[in-house]
Amino acid sequence: MKIQEADAKSLLLAEGLPVPAWEVARTAADARASAERFLTAGAERVVVKAQVLVGGRGKAGGVKLAGSAAEAESGAAAIRGVENKGLTVRKVLVAAAADIVREFYLAATIDRRARRVLLMGSAEGGVEIEEVAASNPGAIVTVHAHPYLGLLDAEARRLAFGMGLGNHWKAAAAIARGLGRTMVANDADLVEVNPLAIVRERGADGTVGERLVCLDAKITLDDSALSRHPGLEALRDLDEEDPADGAARAEGINFIKLDGTIGCMVNGAGLAMTTMDLVKRAGGEPANFLDIGGGARSDKVSAAMRLILEDPKVQAILVNIFGGITRGDEVAHGLIEARAEQTRDVPMVVRIVGTNAEEAGRLLEEARFETATSLDEAAAKAVAVAGRPAA
Ligand code: GDP
Ligand code: MN
Repeated sequence: MKIQEADAKSLLLAEGLPVPAWEVARTAADARASAERFLTAGAERVVVKAQVLVGGRGKAGGVKLAGSAAEAESGAAAIRGVENKGLTVRKVLVAAAADIVREFYLAATIDRRARRVLLMGSAEGGVEIEEVAASNPGAIVTVHAHPYLGLLDAEARRLAFGMGLGNHWKAAAAIARGLGRTMVANDADLVEVNPLAIVRERGADGTVGERLVCLDAKITLDDSALSRHPGLEALRDLDEEDPADGAARAEGINFIKLDGTIGCMVNGAGLAMTTMDLVKRAGGEPANFLDIGGGARSDKVSAAMRLILEDPKVQAILVNIFGGITRGDEVAHGLIEARAEQTRDVPMVVRIVGTNAEEAGRLLEEARFETATSLDEAAAKAVAVAGRPAA
């Protein structure tokens, strides 16, 4: 699960990391009011940033600096009109603009092979790390955190110096340790700060100093661990979620929408992957990955059918059920019910084997469903009927 920059920053703050204050505004007028507050508090300029779950906002025109509240308002209005990789901007973050001296990259991620949290840093901040990895891999410094002790002092120091943050190594080491803690505390997959920036700030006494701060934050949480963190579920941004994903989650169905035309309904993740492979081999393109899970009852089958049919691109449905705990006749009943309430007539090919397959076959035959005995046959039939009107 991806969360918005503002929420990611809250998780960093909770670990004591230096994040400049911000406000979130839902309208251009609110952005103006926020800007007014920062300017009154002494900021020379404010920054207005799109809150969308994609990177590269800077390049896409989703980050604007403003010298007045009016400018912040028009900036926010402009940002809300920008399409970011197909996503509509509904919120902006407003903060006092940082006076950036230099930008760095720092992130914590999971190194599955080492089974540890990996910290990755680079002096080439502000740039997407994939670009740095491709053009100048030597510029990336990596260190592992200890599974129990976290990031050890010597390693944190090696990272900071390796990134060219020698003058700020204590702050950099503390931030690196904090990113590691943020990973573990929230069961995150990625905690990325880009840019981590040296900024110039004027203190209360008027003297100018430099400080290291987290100017951007991107966090992805492990979906499978969300049940351990009830509070984090609230950070899911439903504005940016495909309604089908929410519906699937509510039904306990594992569903991932794809671009093809053959809707797939399968029980078991492995079988669902195999089914997709065979659809491709038969010359078709799967419209989705869908695993209805073990022991699925007929109501779940109808729900899965609705999910598949909501996608207007779907031209045929392939049902592939291996009856174990899931009973074939239950699925057949579910399919018959689902078809009765179907709003769109899409041809369906069903293969059910295993527990109560014979009973299922009889029910489906009576209901005049197209059936298949092997998966290859089912895939070939589904691809063949796609696009043709249902019988
Ligand atoms: P991203 O492009 O989606 O990763 O958004 P970022 O928050 O990283 O912003 C992109 C770029 O905008 C940064 O690399 C900075 O160069 C610039 N930027 C962001 N915030 C500020 C700020 O407060 N002051 C200044 N001067 N530039 C900023
Ligand atoms: Mn960034």
